[in-house]
Amino acid sequence: MRKKIIAGNWKMNVLPSETAELVKEVAAATKDFANVEVVCCTPAIDIPAAVAAACGTHVGIGAENAHWEAKGAFTGEISCPMLVDAGVKYVIIGHSERRQYFGETDETVNKRTRAVIAAGMTAIVCVGETLEEREAGKLVEVIERQMTTGLKDVTAADCAKLVIAYEPVWAIGTGKTATPDQAQEVHALIRSILARLVGEETAQTVRIQYGGSMKPANAAELLAKPDIDGGLIGGAALKAGDFAGIVAAGN
Ligand code: PEP
Repeated sequence: MRKKIIAGNWKMNVLPSETAELVKEVAAATKDFANVEVVCCTPAIDIPAAVAAACGTHVGIGAENAHWEAKGAFTGEISCPMLVDAGVKYVIIGHSERRQYFGETDETVNKRTRAVIAAGMTAIVCVGETLEEREAGKLVEVIERQMTTGLKDVTAADCAKLVIAYEPVWAIGTGKTATPDQAQEVHALIRSILARLVGEETAQTVRIQYGGSMKPANAAELLAKPDIDGGLIGGAALKAGDFAGIVAAGN
């Protein structure tokens, strides 16, 4: 049995001064759903307030990116040891917005993923195709490449600290959601690639989240699919009530 994991991705939307309140609201609104792992991934500057507000609750705090080097001359970057020291337990890696706007590649996804896992945090590794890629019949090729290069040298043992997020780029922040069947098809593909990379038994233990305009109204149907083990939530993570509605659907 894989425990469902619902993670909010706040992106660049919440001020440090607003952070404690939102984390506390999320903790209160989700406290009865013990079957779900609840995570808030926040901008780096919000992390201290988020960790303090989550202390003593069931909510885990995540970051939205991490550098692969432990320290050094990398102006503006944040390392895994820094995140661990701040109390971070999860890091989103390779979100499509980082691939699109910040030069993230499958190779840098791989370096970050291995650094996050080596530091003892859970890497939430995002994969997903654009609309053009889907329409050109390249879905399988894109997911294969993102998985194979992004997870190079990630071992079966590392998979205890690995979550994959399938996020079709055309569904992120657009209001368009993959149908449950479309999502399940890709989740099954991802699990079969994992099985080839780390073995069938380990592949069965890795959680695969769906992300892309997930909301309380569509969450239950998506989360009912056999290979959909949670959600990575953007817009709906900014309102505790909506986020809790998704958590409830997974409980
Ligand atoms: C995301 O950014 O990871 C995401 C899924 O966003 P939204 O839920 O707003 O589509």
